[in-house]
Amino acid sequence: MNACPLCHPHNERRIHADRQLRVILVEDSGYPGYCRVIWQAHVAEMTDLSPADSSRLMAVVLAVEDALRDVLRPAKINLASFGNVVPHLHWHVIPRFADDPHFPEPLWGARQREPDPVRLAERRARLPALRAAIAARLAAAR
Ligand SMILES: [Zn+2]
Repeated sequence: MNACPLCHPHNERRIHADRQLRVILVEDSGYPGYCRVIWQAHVAEMTDLSPADSSRLMAVVLAVEDALRDVLRPAKINLASFGNVVPHLHWHVIPRFADDPHFPEPLWGARQREPDPVRLAERRARLPALRAAIAARLAAAR
């Protein structure tokens, strides 16, 4: 039996889903706007996809990055694809701010500080705009 959590998601905050992939908002209180782009089929590597499919996946990752930059104005975007723990192809698209919990370390590095709840609330308030911006970009790309 396939016990992969990305093949059997529950309580995902989906922004977009189609036959090939889905975009979700990650539940992380320190990182409003943190998105994940998940390929629907259980494959491990980018090169498991056809060239057309890997191009589509990257186009969606970049559309999410563009929407995050437009709506949240982060200091930096972090893109990451690991799959060491869950070998099911997915990309992390993470808006980074100088005052976020780990900056300038990666999200998986040492925690640097407690985030300011006011700044977090401001970013959280932008999430409906982020959803709309991602949906608009993906609709335009079809
Ligand atoms: Zn899977």
